[in-house]
Amino acid sequence: MSEKMPAKTHIDFAYELDLVVKHDARAPLLDREFGHYTGAGVPLFSIGGGYYRYGLIEILARFHARKGYYIVETPIIASASLYELSGHLHFYKKNMFLFKIEDHDFAIKPMNCPYHILVFMHEVARNRGKVKLPFKIFEAGRVHRYEPSGSLYGLLRVRGFTQDDAHIITPREHAVESIYSVFLEMRELMEKLFGLEVSKDTVYLRLSLSDPKLIGTEFMGTAEEWEAAEGFLEAAADRIKDEYGIPSYKERGEAAFYGPKIDIIMRLREQGIEKEWQLGTIQFDFNLPRRFRLYELVKDVYGYDEVYIIHRALMGSLERFLGVYLDYYKGRLPFTLAPVQFAIIAIQTGEEPVDEKIGSVAVTLKEELLKAGFRAGLLFTSKTGLSKEVRRIESTSKPAILVYIGKKEVEEGFLTVRPYSLRERKRRNIRVPLEPDSVSGLSSIAEELERGVVEIAGYAPRIPADMSYIL
Ligand code: ZN
Repeated sequence: MSEKMPAKTHIDFAYELDLVVKHDARAPLLDREFGHYTGAGVPLFSIGGGYYRYGLIEILARFHARKGYYIVETPIIASASLYELSGHLHFYKKNMFLFKIEDHDFAIKPMNCPYHILVFMHEVARNRGKVKLPFKIFEAGRVHRYEPSGSLYGLLRVRGFTQDDAHIITPREHAVESIYSVFLEMRELMEKLFGLEVSKDTVYLRLSLSDPKLIGTEFMGTAEEWEAAEGFLEAAADRIKDEYGIPSYKERGEAAFYGPKIDIIMRLREQGIEKEWQLGTIQFDFNLPRRFRLYELVKDVYGYDEVYIIHRALMGSLERFLGVYLDYYKGRLPFTLAPVQFAIIAIQTGEEPVDEKIGSVAVTLKEELLKAGFRAGLLFTSKTGLSKEVRRIESTSKPAILVYIGKKEVEEGFLTVRPYSLRERKRRNIRVPLEPDSVSGLSSIAEELERGVVEIAGYAPRIPADMSYIL
């Protein structure tokens, strides 16, 4: 890259990895500015983005299910009356997309919570006391919120996004444990899936609390509710400090009007500049249980006088997370989520019998990788063109693993394999024997890269595709 060229942004990386659609002067009509057809701030994911999203959402669903969350998927639109009931139509109206059909008011879902509470009420009503508390419900929930067009930017500020959203409905005695376990889940997900260290050196907690003088006016609910919820957050933060040394900072008066919260902030250091990245949120809510009359339901079925609703996300917006991650890792993604997992580079020599062998080994290998469930592509090049081709794919589609097959490889019976390590931010060199079958050697390299995902999700999703066309 020449010095005059501006540094790539997450949008460039997302385009080069084939994660998103953007304007392209080479196709009629696609030469419009990004968002002309989709609506500004509504990212349209392309083929690589499809694999990324399906893989990620599958991991998130399995991970949460193993942690005792129930998994749901709720509609994108709702009758406006749902958001009337939740209060959003009152205090969040300026961020909502609303429309009318047949004289009926509809809303595009800006938040998943009201639907999750309806599901909770349904399960409690039909199964009475058999539904255990704390009740935990998860959705990779697609929401749409109006933001002024001037504030939109790439994947970082959008109007349509997907939250790794869950709600925990808990009685008092499980509140601290519930909050603490959200932190543990966040830590596990960041480390095992994304290779991001969560420690006292990289993360801190920000507690947004009430101003006690304004409870009842600016902060809804009773003083007892606020005191209890803030006490739970502080107790969980203390435990996180004791166990992991992670500090927390209190900000008085910064809570939302409906409850206090903890934000989990990651510090990223890049070329001496420190940036803050908000990951998870754990937010109490005194508004929704009143509006949905949950206190009455829970009292009736379980006998508890008090119940708390906690909103929580580990990544926040999947789109925004992806944008920050791409910026931070310069377009590298974890193996399980990378659009191109294996790039097979066949280096031809011009000598016919050798090239035939190289070609047949390369084609067979790609077929075997697809059968094993991987996304693989095949690229033919020559010894003279090799370094240029590798530089090109390294700066665009960024395959997770490069596999070289040339004359030396077929004659000596091995493959040169170069997996990318996110932690070391470089490739390693591994030799894998071609006999008895080359794919088992490659599979074991993949399994090593999938290990963290298997630990948190029980298995690593494999969605195969021939990705040769993006190499
Ligand atoms: Zn919520």
